[in-house]
Amino acid sequence: MSQLDPRSDVRLQVLAQISVPLCLVDVDALQIIWANDCAMRHWSADSNDDINGVDFLSKFPGLTREDMQAALASCRQDRSATTERLPIDKAGESSLNTLGSMTIRVSEFEQHERPNVLLIELCDYGKDIDQEAHFQTVALTQTPSMISSFDENFKLVYSNPAAQECMTPECKSLQELLLNPSDLHIIFNGNDETDHIDCELEVNTRHGTQWHSMHIQLSTHPISGKRTYLLTASNATEQRRARQAAYSLAYNDSLTGLPNRAALNRFLEELLDSGSTESQLPFGIFFLDLDRFKVINDSLGHAAGDQLLIDTAQRLRQALGARGTVYRLGGDEFVMIVTDKVKHNELKKIAENVLFATAEPVTVSEHDIRVLPSIGICRFPEDGVCIDTLMEHADAAMYIAKAHKSGYCFYDEKMSNQISEKIKDRLGLENDLATAVENGEFELYFQPKVACRNLAVSSVEALIRWHHPSRGMVPPDKFIGIAEETGQIIDLGNWVLTAAMRQQRNWQDQGMRIPVSVNISARQFSANDLLANVSDALSQTGCDPHMIELEITESMLIGEPDTVHSVLQQLSSMGIRLALDDFGTGYSNLAYLQKYPLDCLKIDRIFLAEQRRSMLLGTILNIGKVLGVEVVAEGVETATQADWLIARGCDHMQGFYFSKPMPVTETTRYLVDNGVPLTSANDETIHGDRAA
Ligand code: C2E
Ligand code: CA
Ligand code: CA
Repeated sequence: MSQLDPRSDVRLQVLAQISVPLCLVDVDALQIIWANDCAMRHWSADSNDDINGVDFLSKFPGLTREDMQAALASCRQDRSATTERLPIDKAGESSLNTLGSMTIRVSEFEQHERPNVLLIELCDYGKDIDQEAHFQTVALTQTPSMISSFDENFKLVYSNPAAQECMTPECKSLQELLLNPSDLHIIFNGNDETDHIDCELEVNTRHGTQWHSMHIQLSTHPISGKRTYLLTASNATEQRRARQAAYSLAYNDSLTGLPNRAALNRFLEELLDSGSTESQLPFGIFFLDLDRFKVINDSLGHAAGDQLLIDTAQRLRQALGARGTVYRLGGDEFVMIVTDKVKHNELKKIAENVLFATAEPVTVSEHDIRVLPSIGICRFPEDGVCIDTLMEHADAAMYIAKAHKSGYCFYDEKMSNQISEKIKDRLGLENDLATAVENGEFELYFQPKVACRNLAVSSVEALIRWHHPSRGMVPPDKFIGIAEETGQIIDLGNWVLTAAMRQQRNWQDQGMRIPVSVNISARQFSANDLLANVSDALSQTGCDPHMIELEITESMLIGEPDTVHSVLQQLSSMGIRLALDDFGTGYSNLAYLQKYPLDCLKIDRIFLAEQRRSMLLGTILNIGKVLGVEVVAEGVETATQADWLIARGCDHMQGFYFSKPMPVTETTRYLVDNGVPLTSANDETIHGDRAA
């Protein structure tokens, strides 16, 4: 088909000048038959030879033969509206890197050689491109996203207004943007396979440090061929804080601020999941449990207990320093994971540091309290390779440390059996205790005390014994603690009070006027009804209150001073004597002796057993004298000890040297044999000297 000659058609000469792409299309052949200069530029054609005969549909993808026929028909139908707009898909127009679709306008071009020719005009040409550039600029300058570009040396080459508003004026590189420049290496480490990185990092900004969520696109500069980094960032500080707050709630102990059990498990899981056992770093686990914490919590109240825990947490953290992390598991249990310096003697040193750091008393509610932890230590991987085993072993070692009062103890294989037996034992006892009072399994034994001045029996102490149906005799040290923890001590204590008073009354009725001492536990004392229970027992048994002494321990005196004073005062004014038991093992605060109406001080037997402490024993004896309280020495086992005590002016002695605790019948025989004064013969109260 011959080419159209503009010289023969003046219309074409005019159309050729127009700076809008125009072309003529033969609708039957679906070929372009002519294009103006602008259209040729658009298609990168040098002359009309390149265009003439080209498949129309290849230049106007999205259009069909039917579209063109319909357009022609409609042009002919309505001559006044000679144009028809059709959308075309511009993706096919590779020479122009434009987006989206554009429209064409068609009108019939009457031409005698071909019957069906349409003139096609590409609408919005040029304007369309400007708009796109415009939108790109607007997008870049108006978007709240911070967009910046860095060269291959991470030098800043471009930043959009949002990025400029955020970056510090001095920021000239990616390194300067990042709060931790070392993050740069983390980002670009081994990323050869990927062309982008998504991360969340801390950055320096005009508004302080912020967390930014970043998308870093790696690309090649179109001219230099060097690497460039396009950074798109948004401020993620709020989300980060919210996440951190949620994390903190889940993984921190709200009282002490220490990480909690969940955090410990997570940390250990990560530590143990990080490869084979050989490649993992060794670490040490310290399991800590505070001694006597429950007593303090019960007698001083929870606020004081909390204070003590906060203080202890602080000390543990200081003692461990940067060598590891302290966790609070709950209650008075803490765990320390030591990741630095994990050899046996280094761990030993840390344990000693911890004990030293906790040795100094804490002042809580005006009391100086000292709670030392018992520490069990085990090591990964020597003592176990999974979390449960390691924790179990550290716990077992702690158990032994507590039992031996050794402060700390390293795990060794033999412990596990010992411990599981112990736990089973304890659970069994706890169960059996529940029905023991009802079943009449308890019995009181009595141990005499003798006066130093004439070696006469001055009173007896009631000591409980449990005849367990299958275990035989269970000593009080094995079950009093459990009963205190479970609360069963209240019933048990009431049973002891009544049984001891009844026995006292029996002896009295038999003509023997012998005072009886009864041990009171901390829990009984802190429960509000001790006074009522004592009164009830007195009236039930008809026992003379002047013949009863209650042995209390120092831990009971650290409660709210006014309450403690009031309870003791009321007991005292009922005629009941009060003795401070186990003196020297607790807080050994002599101020109690002046503050409260105490009649007697019982010095713990460790002072007698340990030679080096006898100096202290001498001092206590003197103080007792000065303050006007009687002093009883416990645990006298030898004649030498007895002589020593008599020579130093001790008032009373108690111990195996005189007699072990005995059942009632034996005690009665002992009392008779040792000439206990008959009621009528001597009207003295307990230990003799105090006026009723
Ligand atoms: P405690 O009140 O200090 O009682 C003295 C303990 O020392 C008794 O142990 C007694 O048998 C023992 N003992 C006495 N003389 C000697 C001696 O010369 N050498 C040695 N090595 N030990 C001696 P027991 O009967 O096993 O009682 C242990 C603890 O159990 C008591 O210590 C007391 O704290 C508690 N306990 C006993 N009975 C009761 C009770 O009825 N109620 C309460 N709450 N606690 C009780
Ligand atoms: Ca006692
Ligand atoms: Ca004692």
